Amino acid sequence: MNPRVLIVEDEQALNLLLRYNLESEGFDVDIVERGDDAETRIRENQPDLLILDWMLPGVSGIEICRLATGADDYVVKPFSLPELLARVHALLRRAKPEQTMKILKSGDLELDREKKRVQRAGRELHLGPTEFRLLEFLMLSPGRVFTREQLLDGVWGREAYIDERTVDVHVGRLRKVLSRGREIDPIRTVRGSGYSFNERFAEVS
Ligand code: CA
Repeated sequence: MNPRVLIVEDEQALNLLLRYNLESEGFDVDIVERGDDAETRIRENQPDLLILDWMLPGVSGIEICRLATGADDYVVKPFSLPELLARVHALLRRAKPEQTMKILKSGDLELDREKKRVQRAGRELHLGPTEFRLLEFLMLSPGRVFTREQLLDGVWGREAYIDERTVDVHVGRLRKVLSRGREIDPIRTVRGSGYSFNERFAEVS
């Protein structure tokens, strides 16, 4: 799963340049040009990192910054692109060390992000690519409840036109493979909300 960066900037030429460079470094990039649109977008789908311009139409960067609990770093325009990219990488490493973790472990469950393999209690689980990404996505934020819409965004991508019920189908398939016999289901259905990975599932058994 790629780290998600939201750029809030009203200079289109700069947006193109940033998008091109961040995407080629493996980020998922989203852009809004107005401050007030940024507030909505952040609430809808919280990015891992926000690149915020100061002078913006709508709501200023400073106001958004207050809303988003302050800035971790800043650069002065005109900035050097390699410098900005280096800081983006450094901030993400500090904020989300799990983004770079190769193996996710919880209880008897182990997901190898590089080899795309999942094991439970030492046995190999055969997941389809979508089920794999779904499990990876959930395991990256244990305990957090995701709505179907957030799962569609995070696993299938914003551009995918897929019915929210598709999420239920894939969660069902994932569950079938994950648990055998009396094993506890690590995925929790939160009625009226969505799904989450229950990081304490191993303690229940
Ligand atoms: Ca501006």
